Amino acid sequence: MGKRQGAAELTAVGIGKTFGDFHALRDISLTIGSGEFLTLLGPSGSGKSTFLMILAGFEEATSGTLKKDGVDITRVPAEKRAFGMVFQGYALFPHMTVEQNIAFPLQVQGRAPGEIKILVDDMIDRVGLRGHEKKRPAGLSGGQQQRVALARALVFEPAVLLLDEPFSALDKNLRVSMQEEVRRLHQELGTTFVFVTHDQSEALALSTRIGIFNHGHLQQLDTPKQVYERPANRFVAEFLGDVN
Ligand code: ADP
Ligand code: MG
Repeated sequence: MGKRQGAAELTAVGIGKTFGDFHALRDISLTIGSGEFLTLLGPSGSGKSTFLMILAGFEEATSGTLKKDGVDITRVPAEKRAFGMVFQGYALFPHMTVEQNIAFPLQVQGRAPGEIKILVDDMIDRVGLRGHEKKRPAGLSGGQQQRVALARALVFEPAVLLLDEPFSALDKNLRVSMQEEVRRLHQELGTTFVFVTHDQSEALALSTRIGIFNHGHLQQLDTPKQVYERPANRFVAEFLGDVN
């Protein structure tokens, strides 16, 4: 424990994405600071997941460039970017134990068994799964399954963790405790976290800054205090005022 892993700065310049004639993203430019916890917030269909997929390398932008620590990665494939990812419904392997699920990305990377054991053990402690190592996903609660997903996404020490509405299927109490968990992991590890949600209270609770999307446009990018006290436009003011 106590280890801090790497972090990277990501810069998007003029990112656009069309599906046929439809503009899912228009001219998104922003920098995500190294070690920052940035939340992308906005209504359903505003382009948050599309932008995250472009950061991950699973979707190709129609226009614009992407840099990691100043190096152009626009055309670097997802597996070479090697960002950690937790998506809703990003399923665990049902036939594998907790330990085996967490070890899987390290085995794919061809790490040595001794190193795998150390890294997996460390993650099991960090996410509070000690005592559950030999269980299979079906024997775990929803919250524990999400802890396994977090551990699996972080075990290979990625410089960036991307999370797309990871807790939206959980009930309110569990969601709040998982938010705490994610915030603690971010503080401990110092990795860059990019978190997508449509839930403004979640964004407020977690983020160093919030990027607010609507209809594929980045409406505002500011600290939680700034977006609440000085909304950039009517959409932001109304979206934040709309208690859900
Ligand atoms: P959000 O995550 O903010 O809810 P998305 O990024 O998933 O929004 O989607 C933004 C818009 O792009 C939506 O209108 C969605 O229907 C559209 N879209 C996303 N992916 C595709 C795709 N593969 N083909 C066509 N349209 C898509
Ligand atoms: Mg989405």
